[in-house]
Amino acid sequence: MPLSVRRPARWSWRALLPWAVGLLPVIVGLIALRWQTERELQMQSEAAASQVLGHTERILDNLAGAAQGLLPLAGKPCAEASLALRAQAARVPFVRATLLFQNNRLYCTSLLGEYEEQVDPDDYTEGKLWLLPGNSLTPDRPLLIYRLDSAGRGVLATVDGEHLLSALRLSPAGLAVQLQVGEQWLEASGQVRSGPLPTVARTPVSLASTRYPITVHTGFSADPAWDYLLGHYPALLALLGLLGAFAGVLCHWQIRRASSPRAELERALLANEFVPFLQPVVREGDYRWAGAEVLMRWQHPRDGLVRPDLFIPYAEHTGQIVAMTRVLMDDTARSLAPFAGLLDDGFHIGFNITADHCRDLSLLHDCQRFLEQFPPGRVSLTLEVTERKLIEPTPITLELFDKLHEMGVKIALDDFGTGQSSLNYLRQFHFDYLKIDRSFVALVGADALSLHILDSIIELCGKLNLGIVAEGVETVAQRDYLAKSAVDFQQGYLFARPMPVADFLKSLAAGPGPVSLPPPTAPEIING
Ligand code: C2E
Ligand code: CA
Ligand code: CA
Repeated sequence: MPLSVRRPARWSWRALLPWAVGLLPVIVGLIALRWQTERELQMQSEAAASQVLGHTERILDNLAGAAQGLLPLAGKPCAEASLALRAQAARVPFVRATLLFQNNRLYCTSLLGEYEEQVDPDDYTEGKLWLLPGNSLTPDRPLLIYRLDSAGRGVLATVDGEHLLSALRLSPAGLAVQLQVGEQWLEASGQVRSGPLPTVARTPVSLASTRYPITVHTGFSADPAWDYLLGHYPALLALLGLLGAFAGVLCHWQIRRASSPRAELERALLANEFVPFLQPVVREGDYRWAGAEVLMRWQHPRDGLVRPDLFIPYAEHTGQIVAMTRVLMDDTARSLAPFAGLLDDGFHIGFNITADHCRDLSLLHDCQRFLEQFPPGRVSLTLEVTERKLIEPTPITLELFDKLHEMGVKIALDDFGTGQSSLNYLRQFHFDYLKIDRSFVALVGADALSLHILDSIIELCGKLNLGIVAEGVETVAQRDYLAKSAVDFQQGYLFARPMPVADFLKSLAAGPGPVSLPPPTAPEIING
């Protein structure tokens, strides 16, 4: 119960929920962004592979075109062919050199003219392409050779590795690209390697040419997703953080609002958790039950029965006490009315009201509704007013009190003597009863001076011609002293404690009202 002193657990769901609600949009957003990033990286990988492959195919097309043009010269003497070889190397883009061979023997090159070297067709993948780390002329520059043959004669056309590398090096940062020809592969560093390809952490793509025995491999060697996210979506990430913080704060605020004392009282009111307890008031002489004061209890689902001083002051502060009293009056009438036969005529039923009840005339309707439930004259409704929240003698208040009196409702001044304005009150409003506070009743048995205060209060009540009720009577000595002082009514644990309506009715049905009950030993209120 929020009004009790019990502290909420440090890691209760109330504390954790705002964090969860704040983190949820961040986590969901990051998952979505991560998925989007993966897609973009995959597309980058595919685009790079396709770009490198297309570029390499275009180069090879040039080489193939040059070789095709020179094939008729293969087998002819070098002196006759060398000019054409040079012309093709000079004219066709990307072609560095052209060479002629016959019976696996190189015999003429565009660069050196007559030349003599063995050619092994097995060096060429599918007899067409050979990737070399370099040759005798440029040992540190990769070289790709295209081979075209027909009936033991043929042409070689070479391309400088730099042309291939320019495409490989255009790919985005972090993306590894390899151009594979047979067992060899060329990487962006310019190295030609053989053996297994390096492993790729993300978005591996392999794209093979349909026209040449080449394959392009791409992929990110390390997971680039978070770096990519930070680099490409900083504003979106900041927005996600803000959204999470906003959701968390909003949730925290909502929880606080929902668990505020005001909201808790509102909920309890709707759930009918405010229940009436009745404490009998006995009359002078035979101490028969002449009436009862209705005292509110909060039947809290978790904390059990809650003492009124833990929640009534707050309900008075927020003004919710008006609605709560209305429900209490309706509840009491509904429970008592079917058993009205057990009540003596003029049986007093007292409710506590506050200054908030006196701001308009709605209390008239509440009292009317209460009285209508009983046979005429069966109950005498009394409203007890305290000085806790001062009632202003406004025209409305005075009209309200007048009309209440016209209806036969009695007004009692509660806790008489404890406030500073008791006498003022007596002058301004027309009261029917004074309830002497239990602190004065407790003076019985004390020194003579203290007792004199109680006597003076009783005497004052007598002079004002008001009915007197003494509260908080706990001992036989107090009872007898008050009886001797001609106090009209007494109320206190000596006679009975506040009890649920069912117990009250049971006691009423059992007899004409107990003369004197020993105080119960079990505590009546379990909370607080
Ligand atoms: P109150 O109107 O002065 O009510 C009398 C209080 O004294 C009750 O406490 C009652 O249980 C207690 N009492 C009765 N006899 C004895 C006794 O012999 N000895 C002692 N020590 N106490 C005794 P309770 O029920 O805890 O109510 C406390 C206060 O809460 C009430 O004081 C009243 O001011 C307020 N309250 C209770 N119900 C309502 C309500 O429906 N509306 C409003 N506005 N205030 C209420
Ligand atoms: Ca009272
Ligand atoms: Ca009182």
